Amino acid sequence: MAFAKGYAATDASKPLEPFTFERRAPNEDDIVIDIKYSGICHSDIHQVRNEWGNAKYPMVPGHEIVGIVSAVGAGVTKFKVGDKAGVGCFVNSCTTCATRDLDLEHYMPGLVQTYNDVEADGTTPTYGGYSDSIVVKEGYALSIPDNLDFAATAPLLCAGITLYSPLMHWKAGPGKRVAVVGMGGLGHMGVKIGAALGAEITVLSQSLSKKEDGLKLGATHYYATSDAETFKTLAGTFDLILCTVSAEIDWNAYLGLLKVDGAFVLLGIPENAVPVHAFSLVPARRSVAGSMIGSIKETQEMLDFCGKHNIVSEIELIRMDQVNEAYERVLKSDVRYRFVIDAATI
Ligand code: NAP
Ligand code: ZN
Repeated sequence: MAFAKGYAATDASKPLEPFTFERRAPNEDDIVIDIKYSGICHSDIHQVRNEWGNAKYPMVPGHEIVGIVSAVGAGVTKFKVGDKAGVGCFVNSCTTCATRDLDLEHYMPGLVQTYNDVEADGTTPTYGGYSDSIVVKEGYALSIPDNLDFAATAPLLCAGITLYSPLMHWKAGPGKRVAVVGMGGLGHMGVKIGAALGAEITVLSQSLSKKEDGLKLGATHYYATSDAETFKTLAGTFDLILCTVSAEIDWNAYLGLLKVDGAFVLLGIPENAVPVHAFSLVPARRSVAGSMIGSIKETQEMLDFCGKHNIVSEIELIRMDQVNEAYERVLKSDVRYRFVIDAATI
């Protein structure tokens, strides 16, 4: 048993504050990671503020974690002390059913989230990356390509895989027209990864204030959704729309932008139900789907792809004590494009 220092939420309405807690003693198949950087995902804010109704306090958020391996259990084969390692959104899963073999373990009920959850023993709370260390089974840790900027790699562990997985599943590539709705933490990774896959990327943002960045990151087109003309100009245009918005939007208006057989994929998770009209789907055989992060195998594939294409997140590095201010800025869409906490400041 060792102590870790971090920041925790103790209540839905209070700011995060310093928190010291125990990390479990490493088992044979565990590695200990000395955390260096941790990204701030909008899901952290949803959970800290109990917007999904599942908050467990005290909560140490953070599921975009990178650091250096500081110890390994006797049975560990994938990592050695001194290696770079990452941890994403989950730290355990069902290992017995066939889904694990299909590399879809993140969709199984046995999933243990990196924080705001309990370990497989049913009692030990999981605490996330806003801290200085973590103990994790080696099978749930990722290898980080050496050539990538370390701090800017952290957001790949959630934002990166959350966009990579649907881009692969819906076969984005040359000849495919893909829209990314929302140019935030997730959205800007969709632009970079989608463009690297060869798809033609259009950003649909609330305004044109980030247009120059969007085009620089790889988008071919950039439209403001506050302009009603956008929905007329782009009607029936896209093979795939990846929606990263965490709030209510006019869903049926966006569905009208899909081609025949096009898919609208929900990645953002707003609090309320999504009202979809049958006429938005039926006459063009369109579909609405959802997608959540990716398996460990696919996350490693994404990291290797990003290593090869030199893709990282655009980040603003902050001190741990700036986290509450950073949350307010994320809520105002005032982040370019991911806040990352420097764990040395804890
Ligand atoms: P973020 O950085 O806040 O980005 C969300 C973007 O949505 C904003 O930058 C903004 O883009 C747009 N937006 C915000 N409010 C809007 C509104 N009222 N109307 C229209 N557009 C609006 O958040 P994030 O970290 O990317 O996360 C986005 C969502 O994905 C959250 O709900 C999060 O919980 C969820 N998430 C899901 C998964 C998954 O596995 N499916 C994984 C991680 C996160 P513009 O300024 O360009 O309009
Ligand atoms: Zn996340």
